[in-house]
Amino acid sequence: MKTTRRNFLHTAALVGAGSMLASGAGAGLLKKISSDVNPENGFSLPSLPYGYDALEPSIDKQTMELHHDKHHQAYVTNLNKALHEVNWNKTADMNALEDICKKVSGYSTAVRNNAGGHFNHSLFWTLMKPAGGGSPTGGLSDAINSTFTSLENFKSSFSDKAKSVFGSGWAWLVVGSDKKLSVGSTPNQDNPLMDISEFKGTPILGLDIWEHAYYLKYQNKRPDYISAWWNVVNWDEVSRLYSLAVK
Ligand code: MN
Repeated sequence: MKTTRRNFLHTAALVGAGSMLASGAGAGLLKKISSDVNPENGFSLPSLPYGYDALEPSIDKQTMELHHDKHHQAYVTNLNKALHEVNWNKTADMNALEDICKKVSGYSTAVRNNAGGHFNHSLFWTLMKPAGGGSPTGGLSDAINSTFTSLENFKSSFSDKAKSVFGSGWAWLVVGSDKKLSVGSTPNQDNPLMDISEFKGTPILGLDIWEHAYYLKYQNKRPDYISAWWNVVNWDEVSRLYSLAVK
């Protein structure tokens, strides 16, 4: 039975992306990793799509190991615990996770923090790749040039948002309900899908600026982490998310 259900979800994930997206901005963002969930036991930690050391030297192996196996895992564990306490009984897939984010004002602070943490990190891993960086192509490239005048200007606006977050949070590139690009940030583990967020949109690029994401290698030098991170950005994935969001 378990296998059947999982196969069903996997198949649904493969065929469902297009039709789900039509139902609203943001739906289906994390479809490609939804086969990693285990509906019987709540949400589970998706595998990293590359090795722990694959993003060296921009992001060191030990940071990736702790960040994924300990920090992200803790968000997943605590999300399941918080949802169990409110008798949440839906299928724990990535659509459900997006749905919780969009209606997060109706949940506890524990759900807000940990659903955000699970969503943000699940997305973050896919937005990086070994030997990434370079430039986006196609529609995303045009949109970046028309909104920010150049890729360099976009990168400095985004980096400025990341540098200026006080304490812990995330910097984002989002597609708004008007289909336009904008950059912004959210505190803690909030994200732009959340109904309580001041900065809203469909996230297509995000940067974790919690100290746990960079402190071992960069200590207090957050700007150095941010500039090194551009070398591992997975623009193919960002472009894919952009085309889905503007459809
Ligand atoms: Mn993190």
